[in-house]
Amino acid sequence: MTHEPLPFVPSLPIDADRMHRADPDMVEVILGYVADRLLTPEVPLDGLADREHLDTVIAGLITDEGHDFRKVLDVYANHLALTVLSADSPRMFTFIPSAPTKASLLFDMVVSAASLQGISWFEAAGAVMAENQVLRTLADIAGMPEGTGGVFVSGGSAGNLSALVVARDTHRRRRADAGLPDVPLRVVVSDQAHSSIKNALNITMMSALVIDTSDSVLTGEELRAAIAGRDDLEDVCAVVATAGTTNAGIIDDIAGVGEVARERGWWLHVDGAYGGAGMLAPEIRHRYDGIEHADSVVMDPHKWWFAPFDSAALLYRDPRLAKAVHTQDASYLDVIHEHESDINPSDLAYHLTRRARGLPLWFSMAVNGIGAYREAVQHSLEMARYAAARLVAHPECELIREPDLSVVLFRRHGWGHDEYEAWSRGLLESQRAFVTSSGWDGEIVGRLVFLHPATTTEMVDEVIAALD
Ligand SMILES: *Cc1c(COP(=O)(O)O)cnc(C)c1O
Repeated sequence: MTHEPLPFVPSLPIDADRMHRADPDMVEVILGYVADRLLTPEVPLDGLADREHLDTVIAGLITDEGHDFRKVLDVYANHLALTVLSADSPRMFTFIPSAPTKASLLFDMVVSAASLQGISWFEAAGAVMAENQVLRTLADIAGMPEGTGGVFVSGGSAGNLSALVVARDTHRRRRADAGLPDVPLRVVVSDQAHSSIKNALNITMMSALVIDTSDSVLTGEELRAAIAGRDDLEDVCAVVATAGTTNAGIIDDIAGVGEVARERGWWLHVDGAYGGAGMLAPEIRHRYDGIEHADSVVMDPHKWWFAPFDSAALLYRDPRLAKAVHTQDASYLDVIHEHESDINPSDLAYHLTRRARGLPLWFSMAVNGIGAYREAVQHSLEMARYAAARLVAHPECELIREPDLSVVLFRRHGWGHDEYEAWSRGLLESQRAFVTSSGWDGEIVGRLVFLHPATTTEMVDEVIAALD
């Protein structure tokens, strides 16, 4: 007699889902912590870390059995969090600060609570629709044509990389079609381009054709002069213009650079990671003229569009070119590519799985209206002008250049590295501000960046008084 094999009967662990069951206590306590943070009128700057102390605080925290969540939250709230400088403090004047709106922070929690992904139309139509609505709004602000499309990636660096890959491969395809050999390609950049561009060129095995600028602005005229008469440029596939350099807030002559790009058949990429939002301010909108002709544009919502980390909007004039380069093919993905004409967010950058990270900006823009964004951006410009005027009036200080955007670079006569560092340390210790020095033409200089709409002239005065 033969026996039928018994079906497999799993011996279920008794408590496998204990991490996944609703826990009203933990929800209440964590949401309480979050509510406190969101309702604090001005978040503290917090400070730098004593790493040895942190080492002892977190030692042995991850074990086989786990701990009460209150104990772990306490380690975070009372030790770790205090050593993460609040980029969203109105007293944060260094790097590029961040100033997410309350609506965007809250909606980021909605995205998190639902672990919302935004990979494809098939899986996440509602999220893709909302992200596309806000991407279209950004494209309209830039004046980009109908058919423009894009995706939210993790940051400007990811956006620049993804765009330059499309520029490269579009050019390679064109060369192949023309029967030309596959050669290493180059990208025209100015000496002020962001460090992420250099990284992107490294990763994509392209090299930079660096145009030296006389006034740190890449202009069509200087670009034209630099390449005049050269017959070794057939390996150039793109040019990068910066709409607001990070160190100084300088906007390149996008229209002039774009004209050269069109004559030469180069891809025009505009890096507006920090400065793109300046387009909202009517008095400087003309400085961005020509951005409407870009083949790709990057703008970071987590910088001057007042959304939380990590979010960068990447726009393509012709998203089909990006789709041709970035789409991932795998048999288990066939279902998301069923409709040939669909362009999925996963098709437009080097990623596949992605968080629906555009939704916080979408929610906040829908709630607050673009007018509120315009005023918030204008406030940053006003603060920069105010600081510049105060520095001009200071007997020991001098502006490096008039601010185009919300970054102010200045020189404090007689100061070197040590004095700037003492200035920075003193202001942070008293929680009045966080500032750091920067470099300009080989010199150490003071740098102030304004982004938070709740920054007041009194806060600026405190920073400047510390320069006496
Ligand atoms: C900040 C910045 C980047 C990089 O963006 P991340 O979001 O930090 O990756 C690129 N270009 C410019 C001009 C920037 O200001």
